Amino acid sequence: MIKTDVLVIGAGPVGLFAIHQLGIIGLKAEVVDNLDKIGGQCIELYPDKPIYDIPALPMCTGESLTKNLLEQIKPFKSNFHLNERVEEINKEKNNWKITTNKKKVFVAPNIIIAGGVGSFEPRKFPIKEAEKFENNGVFYSVKDKNIFKNKKICIFGGGDSALDWAIELSKFSQVTLVHRRKEFRGADHSVKLVKKLQSDGKLKIKTPFQINSIEGQNKIESITLVDDAGKIEKLQTDNVLGFFGLIMKLGPIAEWGLNLDKKTIPVDTGNFQTNKEGIFAIGDICSYPGKLKLILSGFHEGALAARACFKLARPNEKYRFEFTTTSKSMQERLGVKSK
Ligand SMILES: Cc1cc2nc3c(=O)[nH]c(=O)nc-3n(C[C@H](O)[C@H](O)[C@H](O)COP(=O)(O)OP(=O)(O)OC[C@H]3O[C@@H](n4cnc5c(N)ncnc54)[C@H](O)[C@@H]3O)c2cc1C
Repeated sequence: MIKTDVLVIGAGPVGLFAIHQLGIIGLKAEVVDNLDKIGGQCIELYPDKPIYDIPALPMCTGESLTKNLLEQIKPFKSNFHLNERVEEINKEKNNWKITTNKKKVFVAPNIIIAGGVGSFEPRKFPIKEAEKFENNGVFYSVKDKNIFKNKKICIFGGGDSALDWAIELSKFSQVTLVHRRKEFRGADHSVKLVKKLQSDGKLKIKTPFQINSIEGQNKIESITLVDDAGKIEKLQTDNVLGFFGLIMKLGPIAEWGLNLDKKTIPVDTGNFQTNKEGIFAIGDICSYPGKLKLILSGFHEGALAARACFKLARPNEKYRFEFTTTSKSMQERLGVKSK
């Protein structure tokens, strides 16, 4: 069981800046995110795209913004629990007990939900057998590429993830890349590279094909593919990887007894608290009159929610407003020397 002042759900830009605002006022935070990386939409959806409306940064990318936010919160040494989704929230005396899908338990007087549009989840194969073999032959992400070494692998998809993993895994496995269209959608140079690997005999490409069935008892033995004309082909394979993009689901957040308004959580704009004491919502997931789904609005929301968390985390102390330019205690927490 992990005790903390605040559990932050979501490591998108808004969750990250909330950690800063909590840190400078002396509150500890733990962060849980369903994704395998930090940065939310900025990293998952547009790492290379330029952003022009972050105050005082004329231009940054999704990736550089995330990198800078991480640099800014380094002094607070928050733990990130990635690849974990918060499933359940229960009230226990003055605390919230928070449980993830990996059965990790956190206890905290405050929860900040910075869950964006909900948890990103992979689009899955539309056949029943795929569920049976999920994580035992069927995968939607690569956590450890070594498990695919010297195996027969079928990779499905036409975008960058499918192409990148086909290129990478073809270095040490027999890869067949399958796509339902003739043309790939990934970056030009990756498309060229997979075609070169194909002509060098280092990987196989099958288009336009889709998965039709998966065969095997305790492990995958073979799969069948079907083309547009209904022609079926059988392939021996050990593993099947699907990269069909992500869908965003509000997911378990909808089950926590919070007031909801069209997949968003209405909040009090004085402190960004939801209808439950000690549970706050900031960033894209919160709603109030005039809400703008912009990163800069989320930063402001995090600043107010952090101050509100102080009351429940330090009930016997009085919160004092201070500037970072002049506050010795804030500068100490930031690890900078006061002048
Ligand atoms: C293509 C594109 C371009 C954009 N350009 C701009 C721009 O120029 N300027 C701008 O200001 N904004 C822009 N935005 C919007 C901006 O990205 C969002 O406003 C911002 O990402 C919201 O941040 P967030 O931290 O609230 O949520 P997100 O970035 O969505 O992060 C939420 C995180 O919460 C996690 N999560 C959700 N539920 C759970 C759960 N139960 N357990 C664990 N983890 C969970 C998710 O996995 C996710 O990582 C753009 C968006 C897109 C898609």
